[in-house]
Amino acid sequence: MTELQDHCILVTGGAGGIGAGIAQAILQQGGHPVLMDRDLQGAQHNAKQLAQAGLSAKDTDLNVSALACDVTDPASVEQAITQTLDRYGHIDGLVNNAGIIQMADAWEATSDQWQRHFNVNSTGAFNMSQAVGKHMRDAGQSGAIVNVASNCGKVGYANMAAYNASKAAMISLTRSLAMEWAAYNINVNAVCPGGVNTNMLTGVADWLAPRIDTPADTLLEGMGAAQLGRKIEPIEVGDVVAFLLSKRALIIRGQAISVDGGDTPY
Ligand code: NAD
Repeated sequence: MTELQDHCILVTGGAGGIGAGIAQAILQQGGHPVLMDRDLQGAQHNAKQLAQAGLSAKDTDLNVSALACDVTDPASVEQAITQTLDRYGHIDGLVNNAGIIQMADAWEATSDQWQRHFNVNSTGAFNMSQAVGKHMRDAGQSGAIVNVASNCGKVGYANMAAYNASKAAMISLTRSLAMEWAAYNINVNAVCPGGVNTNMLTGVADWLAPRIDTPADTLLEGMGAAQLGRKIEPIEVGDVVAFLLSKRALIIRGQAISVDGGDTPY
């Protein structure tokens, strides 16, 4: 038996880079990741890649699947959960990984941009957590939720005030839910990655490059974790998330764990 044997685990932002790494780690522990994204094609692509990589066993269809879901829309969230329950009959875990970043210095940022960050990064995580949490509570089953926040939620990096604040809100949501839902055996934690090798990080470098007159490639090289001397790979975040989803992590509760190669020592 592996840590997440037959656990059905929803992974939002499943079309993205870290979503794929998390799904890979869940599969390696025997679980069934459901990749949920507003970009259904992207989620289906990731699911297919994982199945083709031989990471899922015989019935690839059940072992890793993809669903359309916009985490900002409660009706879409409900629909995706109903579809998952129809298919698997149970939901054992949730990873709130969907996220956006729109770079802007604080003088130029608009309240619309601010709102968009909160809508996806924090309200989206709240919508998903409440819907999945209610299902677990009503089914009388234990479960785990992991929020993919960011070290930006602890450190005030430049040109991303709205992103930083929305991730700090996610960390705070983690603590609140952990406290309130302990009585229902729902364990809630967050991970705070540093620079991870995905399209999101490339987008940050592309935005910065012309503004500081440095090639985006050079910038990207420097966006790795200092102590590692390289960027973090999605599977490395996925491995920590998979552990936090497992029963072996029950003594870790309401934490925001830096997974940034030592850049943020708290
Ligand atoms: P990514 O852009 O590859 O993936 C993000 C995914 O979220 C995309 O597939 C996107 O379609 C999806 N998404 C956006 N809005 C959505 C919505 N309303 N409903 C459903 N899905 C939605 O980026 P990534 O690097 O894989 O990021 C994943 C998470 O990790 C994000 O929350 C991000 O903030 C966080 N993070 C990333 C880094 C990094 O360096 N890449 C560092 C720290 C934290």
